[in-house]
Amino acid sequence: MNQPKIDFSNTQIAFQNKSNNELRNSYILFKSIGYNWLVQTGPKIIELAFSLGLPIKGIIKKTVFHQFCGGENINDCENAIQIMHQYNVGTILDYSVEGEEREDVFEATAQEILQTIKKASGNPAIPFSVFKVTGIARFELLAKVNANSVLTEVEKEEFSRVKHRINRICEAAYKLQVRIFVDAEESWIQDAIDGLATEMMLLYNKEKAIIYNTIQFYRHDRLAFLNKSIADAAANNYFYGVKLVRGAYMEKEALRAQEKNYLNPIQVNKAASDTDYNAGLALCIEHINRVSICAGTHNEDSCRYLTSLMQNANIEPNDERVYFSQLFGMSDNLSYNLGNAGYRVAKYLPYGPVKAVLPYLFRRAQENTSVKGQAGRELSLVQTELRRRNAAN
Ligand SMILES: Cc1cc2nc3c(=O)[nH]c(=O)nc-3n(C[C@H](O)[C@H](O)[C@H](O)COP(=O)(O)OP(=O)(O)OC[C@H]3O[C@@H](n4cnc5c(N)ncnc54)[C@H](O)[C@@H]3O)c2cc1C
Repeated sequence: MNQPKIDFSNTQIAFQNKSNNELRNSYILFKSIGYNWLVQTGPKIIELAFSLGLPIKGIIKKTVFHQFCGGENINDCENAIQIMHQYNVGTILDYSVEGEEREDVFEATAQEILQTIKKASGNPAIPFSVFKVTGIARFELLAKVNANSVLTEVEKEEFSRVKHRINRICEAAYKLQVRIFVDAEESWIQDAIDGLATEMMLLYNKEKAIIYNTIQFYRHDRLAFLNKSIADAAANNYFYGVKLVRGAYMEKEALRAQEKNYLNPIQVNKAASDTDYNAGLALCIEHINRVSICAGTHNEDSCRYLTSLMQNANIEPNDERVYFSQLFGMSDNLSYNLGNAGYRVAKYLPYGPVKAVLPYLFRRAQENTSVKGQAGRELSLVQTELRRRNAAN
């Protein structure tokens, strides 16, 4: 099999869907969030402005929201969905509202997730759905379940409602044949999430992988967990779906471990996370007859490594069992060049009311500061493309 050639530095393909104006706006945005002080003070100023009723929604909507989100509701996302689909890049509708921890809010979120599944059903432009367990369950309840603490009668009922909600979502995904990711979260609720995801896989992954759990390789115990999970799927005769990520809560994890005086679950350094991440990819490819994967990463080396693993295992680029995924508004050089080469790729497209997705937007801004490096990457890609277009004219 001939592996398609991919050049991740090809900015013409990366930004083929972007007008000059859009590119210039992205440039200004990434330049701004490259300033650490602005990202540190920005959220406080924005929250204050909202609480004072100042009209800042419009500015946010045109700038950071436009860069990282699809719209305020599911219908608003249609434009972004169609544009990406045109270039062989799929969409994963991500209802990113981080609301209050109330039963009615959890119910409303579950309903919205069901809508994303319905929208994805039979739609080649939307290959997956996704949900976060904390979007439909109280964090402290999950922490109690995770710690094996004794639940009160009221909590038992509450947890059974959580299970019921998750089952409704996964059952709908199964009936409508829409693959769905269960996102990974903080380590002190992750056993509870893993338990719920495994239960769902046992129920709905008998014929193929519909439910995908997520593994964070910034944890030093997760490669062993992946091994165990694959063995469990084989022993219990179900297909194992997994999204592989490095992990998003590193600072929080370190802080809690220090405060509570237990061993930090995070790897000793970035290289160890990278090594385990890539080993995770290799392990999954080795077991591809049982395992379906999605590499949720902005890391170019890992993407390239996965394409080489596929080639060595004679897996076609468009094999349904191997997906690549990035976040909307980031790493288009990976998504669009992979899509162009015929690989399966999809982007998380967050949506929700502007005010409700602010925590998501703040996290994106944080991770894109000059300190964390990604802003520099995005900025230089946009800059290269603007220069290329100028020279071509
Ligand atoms: C499609 C998609 C879905 C995602 N879903 C989830 C999810 O469900 N749960 C979740 O937690 N995250 C999720 N993420 C975020 C992800 O975990 C990473 O935070 C983010 O993608 C950056 O990692 P990277 O692989 O892209 O690349 P890189 O930029 O190469 O790696 C950065 C990551 O390396 C790790 N790292 C950095 N420094 C160190 C260090 N000193 N020691 C150890 N490790 C270090 C951290 O995880 C950091 O985020 C998702 C990301 C994508 C693209």
